[in-house]
Amino acid sequence: MGRMLVTGTAGFIGSHVVDHLLARGEEVVGVDCFTGNYPRAVKERNLALASRSEDFSLVEGDILDLDLEALLGGVDAVFHLAGEAGVRRSWKTGLSRYLRRNVLATERLLEAVVRDGTPGFVYASSSSVYGSSGGGPASEGSPLRPASPYGLSKVCAEDLVGMYGRERGVEATILRYFTVYGPRQRPEMAMSRFIGDALDGRSVEVFGNGGQVRDMTFVADAAAATAAALSAPPGIYNVGGGARASVARMLDAVKEVTGRPLEAVHGPEAEGDVKATWADYAKAARHLGYRPSTSLEGGVAAQVAWMLEERLASSAV
Ligand code: NAD
Repeated sequence: MGRMLVTGTAGFIGSHVVDHLLARGEEVVGVDCFTGNYPRAVKERNLALASRSEDFSLVEGDILDLDLEALLGGVDAVFHLAGEAGVRRSWKTGLSRYLRRNVLATERLLEAVVRDGTPGFVYASSSSVYGSSGGGPASEGSPLRPASPYGLSKVCAEDLVGMYGRERGVEATILRYFTVYGPRQRPEMAMSRFIGDALDGRSVEVFGNGGQVRDMTFVADAAAATAAALSAPPGIYNVGGGARASVARMLDAVKEVTGRPLEAVHGPEAEGDVKATWADYAKAARHLGYRPSTSLEGGVAAQVAWMLEERLASSAV
């Protein structure tokens, strides 16, 4: 068992990766600077399970400022999940925040990894590098046509990781996650909004005609694939799929699980909101043992249960 550094440790996917690594018997050092994309209290609760483990420690700080050499001492691998996510928001805020958090932070970390000689590096990328899927599933060799500043920043970060692989000997694995959902999902993501609106008895705002299709990835499946990435050949892997669904089908699943009516109010299309995503995950199945096993209804039920717990926890504060 080793000592792992997980950046973005208090976030949605990062906290699940931490829980997965701890359950496997690893020691985990988590780094997070608690950016304000959603409330700090939610991120702290994401770490509730990990914080009870003696094998977990949290370092609060920004990758752009921290003493990374000190942090990497004795670390066997880095799981780099810290970043600024969010396709729609990236059109509003523009590229600079995304370049800082997704590209410059990654560069600083890679430099430290080179100096330290840390053996493993796993980078959390995104299906947003592909843009909209055409007629079929995207495989790792498909053309990259990002449709948002966010997607562009992820392409740039991937290129950086690739360059450090070629030129500086960093053995890296890049994971392209496709729409991850489940407990702890970021509050601005579609499934969180749909469930929140159903629980509150509000109508839900749907961008465009609701015909968008997403390859939905349950977070426990994504975390298991991420933890498995260390023992896979370095390279790029799609981590996505298992429950490919249109927005209409997602709304039906939310209605079925919550037992609440949910009226959709259609608004304008959102910038950068691609029509469809579709993962060819054969490579991840082969090398990461990626076997998505959660049905959309099962995943939504887990997310609803967590959101109800969250409401109790936040009202108790
Ligand atoms: P999140 O916002 O819940 O988690 C990211 C965490 O990183 C946050 O807690 C934030 O405080 C932290 N962070 C950001 N910049 C930092 C910095 N410079 N130093 C230290 N901490 C920093 O987001 P998430 O949904 O868990 O996404 C995690 C990663 O996965 C991101 O890189 C995102 O681009 C990628 N991703 C997510 C999805 C998805 O569906 N959620 C899909 C594709 C890719």
